[in-house]
Amino acid sequence: MTTQTHPSVLKKTASVTLSTPVQATLYVSLCALTLWTVYFTTNPAIHDRVHSVRHHTLLVGCH
Ligand SMILES: [Zn+2]
Repeated sequence: MTTQTHPSVLKKTASVTLSTPVQATLYVSLCALTLWTVYFTTNPAIHDRVHSVRHHTLLVGCH
């Protein structure tokens, strides 16, 4: 028994995932995740290097 996917389902999935709102949401989420990771990493070298950047970024607490 094989399962076949209709091409229309694939086209609909592609059109939804490639739509501008979804792409924008993914882009913003990825940027936020990257910034969060850089700002709040516990790696001492990176943590110390971005310390002044954290202090100068609005709404980001440091101490
Ligand atoms: Zn600080």
